[in-house]
Amino acid sequence: MADRSFLSWPFFEDRHRELAERLEAWCAINLPVDHHDVDAACRELVAKLGRDGWLKPTALDTDNPGPLDVRTLCITRETLARHDGLADFAFAMQGLGTGALSLFGTPDQQQWLAKTRAGKTISAFALSEPRSGSDVANTEMTAIRNDDFYILTGEKTWISNGGIADLYVVFARTGEAPGAKGLSAFLVPTDTKGLGIAERLEVIAPHPLARLSFDQVRVPASALIGKPGDGFRIAMSVLDVFRSTVGAAALGFARRALEESISRVAERKLFGAPMAELQMVQGHIADMALDVDAAALLVYRAAWTKDMGAARVTREAAMAKLFATDKAQEVIDKAVQLHGGDGVRKGHIVESLYREIRALRIYEGASDVQKVVIARQVMGAAWTAMYLI
Ligand SMILES: Cc1cc2nc3c(=O)[nH]c(=O)nc-3n(C[C@H](O)[C@H](O)[C@H](O)COP(=O)(O)OP(=O)(O)OC[C@H]3O[C@@H](n4cnc5c(N)ncnc54)[C@H](O)[C@@H]3O)c2cc1C
Repeated sequence: MADRSFLSWPFFEDRHRELAERLEAWCAINLPVDHHDVDAACRELVAKLGRDGWLKPTALDTDNPGPLDVRTLCITRETLARHDGLADFAFAMQGLGTGALSLFGTPDQQQWLAKTRAGKTISAFALSEPRSGSDVANTEMTAIRNDDFYILTGEKTWISNGGIADLYVVFARTGEAPGAKGLSAFLVPTDTKGLGIAERLEVIAPHPLARLSFDQVRVPASALIGKPGDGFRIAMSVLDVFRSTVGAAALGFARRALEESISRVAERKLFGAPMAELQMVQGHIADMALDVDAAALLVYRAAWTKDMGAARVTREAAMAKLFATDKAQEVIDKAVQLHGGDGVRKGHIVESLYREIRALRIYEGASDVQKVVIARQVMGAAWTAMYLI
């Protein structure tokens, strides 16, 4: 059983503790699912999570509007990731895919949310392009206004849920200004003419992923989310909510790796005694536990700060994501080492964690990009202070 003592930290309310307990019980019964057919597994997970109410926190409840509760998102991601990486993915994408609608959508656009929260509709977030991943300001896809329509032309790549999504939130250049200030966001249902799956992409920890082509895709002007030129601000606001949750997923993977390692070193005998008696092994376990707790502190600090009403948590979310994902990689690597040959055996839990964790250090802003974000935030604050003095 994983360490749940963090739930008594002051970041949480009783409703979070109850949620964690109920979700833990649900996971024990429902996860992991068979990953053999990853599209089918993902559809099954979205349907199951929706049926049992777990997707409700991923998007705005239009009958009872309020801010998204980032602590709930993080606890859910951490718990799901500990049991099944694909379940975490299915949950997370319902939130990331609809974040722009929750935060900036019109009432008409927000009608989609009841369906995504119920697991009846699958969503996706389409920002990255072949020549602009980290460099979002360089987005090339165009959206040209033509009377009451926009015509979208270009490509998006690395789009999670690409191939199984029912709706895409797409970012394209509308040209109000050069660079980041000339982008806008659009809601594009999958069955829109001209939207195609150019390629399905396979990665080391399989999940639905695709390159999308937009060949003169015509959407009504009412598909615009927010105002023309607001696309970059919308994308960053969505990431401001969901970036800490990537850290939470990494934390779930790391916690599982630690848990598996503790059991392994207690059971496995080397040189006539349990491995746990070797001091160097104890050193590894201590390092892993330290990284897990430090990551949890940063993740839940970011989530709590946002929930307390901070307009932006750019610095906190970047620190949480950077630290939790990088440290989870180290924790999992130590777990593989402690498992010896079994650690690299296909199908072993620590082998799959080793593959699962890697992409989290790349998407939603690579680790290097998070360092740039943190440095700018920290130096910006220092500069402002100097200016004020
Ligand atoms: C599994 C997976 C799922 C994804 N899902 C989605 C999705 O659903 N929607 C979506 O829009 N995108 C998605 N992405 C895309 C992801 O956001 C991009 O891959 C990421 O932003 C990096 O962009 P890139 O691949 O073009 O790499 P590049 O931008 O070419 O960057 C390559 C490397 O350069 C380094 N680097 C970049 N910028 C800097 C800098 N300023 N300073 C120093 N070093 C730097 C980093 O190490 C980075 O990893 C996904 C990617 C993966 C792998």
